[in-house]
Amino acid sequence: MRGTVPQKMRGHGKGAALVVLFAVAASPARATGPAAAAAPDRFDRVVIDAGHGGDDQGAGGPNGLLEKNIVLEVARRLAARLRDDGLEVVMTRDGDQAVSLEQRAQVANGSQGELFLSIHANAAPSPKARGIETFFVSLHASDEAAQRVAARENAAFRSANASTSGADPVAAILGDLTVSEHLAESNEFARLAQEELAAIDRHPSRGVKQAPFYVLMGVQMPATLVEIGFITNPQEERALGSKVRQEQIADALARAVHEFGRRYDARHGVARQGGHTAPSGGS
Ligand SMILES: [Zn+2]
Repeated sequence: MRGTVPQKMRGHGKGAALVVLFAVAASPARATGPAAAAAPDRFDRVVIDAGHGGDDQGAGGPNGLLEKNIVLEVARRLAARLRDDGLEVVMTRDGDQAVSLEQRAQVANGSQGELFLSIHANAAPSPKARGIETFFVSLHASDEAAQRVAARENAAFRSANASTSGADPVAAILGDLTVSEHLAESNEFARLAQEELAAIDRHPSRGVKQAPFYVLMGVQMPATLVEIGFITNPQEERALGSKVRQEQIADALARAVHEFGRRYDARHGVARQGGHTAPSGGS
């Protein structure tokens, strides 16, 4: 399933505008082929995507915490750490404003970063659901729960693109996606991030999964989406609202970014001379 180009995507009949929008989003920095691959490519720029914003509040907790607010807090803390460590950081939003999923991809591709990290908080009907899960993109979800997460996170796209027409758009995108070198690297970063996040306070790990997230599909670089905990679980909501937990999450993600960068540069034959190799350490 993961190595093929599926013919048809289930359950996304309303996404027909995708192919046009992502064609636009991807075009400015479409860097495929031998010429692009030949250029030395140092890991020095990370795109951080705080989910939701503005009218799109994301998920909400039983005590009123909003996903859009806590993911922005974590994104800002992570950005500050990475900048301190010498990396360039591009944020798709740095305030409480609405940014469409295709604008996020456009910002990412225009910045020519080496990694795209989308930060979200999870939600479930049961208040007992808890733990951290990390995703990279695929046409078909790993399981039904993963599909539900993608459907929830894709809702912003569908509401912003209500009128659609024509054939299945997602299969067209996946024609590029499944042959992309970025899938392996997206998987690699997802595993690093999941491992670091799950080590926080022995947080329950729900594993690395795959699902069709629109925000990841348009991005022409390794791309991962982390769900940093269940805002619908009262204990996790309280933790996510605390500065301590937000710092822990930012530290964990920064460690994963640095380890990914070290491997990325080694793979691309980039020699490292000090710089941002140091781990971010304790707080
Ligand atoms: Zn979200």
